[in-house]
Amino acid sequence: MTPATFIPLWSSLGLRRRRWSVAAWLAVPLGILLLAVAIKLPLALHSSGVLDRVPVARASSGVDGLAGAPDPVTEPAASASFVSQRLDAYWRSAFAAMGRAYVSPGLRLFDEGISIPCFPLMAFEDGAPFYCFLDDTIYLPVPYISDLARATGAGGRMIVGYVLAHEYAHHLQHLTGLGATVEQQRPPQGAPMRRARVHYELQADCLAGMWASSVFPPGALDRSTMGRAEDTAALIRDPRGTSSDSHGSLVQRQSAFWSGYTSSRASTCESW
Ligand SMILES: [Zn+2]
Repeated sequence: MTPATFIPLWSSLGLRRRRWSVAAWLAVPLGILLLAVAIKLPLALHSSGVLDRVPVARASSGVDGLAGAPDPVTEPAASASFVSQRLDAYWRSAFAAMGRAYVSPGLRLFDEGISIPCFPLMAFEDGAPFYCFLDDTIYLPVPYISDLARATGAGGRMIVGYVLAHEYAHHLQHLTGLGATVEQQRPPQGAPMRRARVHYELQADCLAGMWASSVFPPGALDRSTMGRAEDTAALIRDPRGTSSDSHGSLVQRQSAFWSGYTSSRASTCESW
């Protein structure tokens, strides 16, 4: 082997080493970044101490916080407005106690397909209620309310409260920044984003349960009855259960609501 062939060989190896070295320098921080993103995204709905500061407001025994609410079967729009006013007063008071500014969400009741900013290219039909953060508005199809109340029978008022409380929880997530990860996501969505979306929805169910404890005292709701009503709310416009991909399974949703209801503490909803 002559020096002429020896030297280029070492040069080549050196170049490869430098390439590997540069790749390693790039790969390590990139790997850490990807790991942080994978771990961080679902956790963005947690912490920040926001939920720790939501005051506990458990209803006293014998109280019916939705007494006087119109019948959701015969007066679905009036019933939804009534419950919405109660929810708005609850969160306004909670935000004041937390020392935070509160702005009421919009509430749009409608009968037929409408256009909303979150779905600009399609008509939003008579499906399940939806909260659009772009205009901070809850979109609530009136036929959904009456059909749901009819399907759940005597528990109609309670289930209207659950449905609206879930959407109000998204409003809370929007105002406090807890929903930022989901609100800012853009397609394509990988597994971390899908997990973040499910956390976002289960947290809303848990917060709906926490609010329910402020209007229905401990023992006023029966877990199995409430669970069936929740399942009906999820499936009445989605009989194949496709929403479980984004909202969690029916069992998870029931558990999230129940943990909020039985604890009366928003901090319980950190873990969902
Ligand atoms: Zn939701």
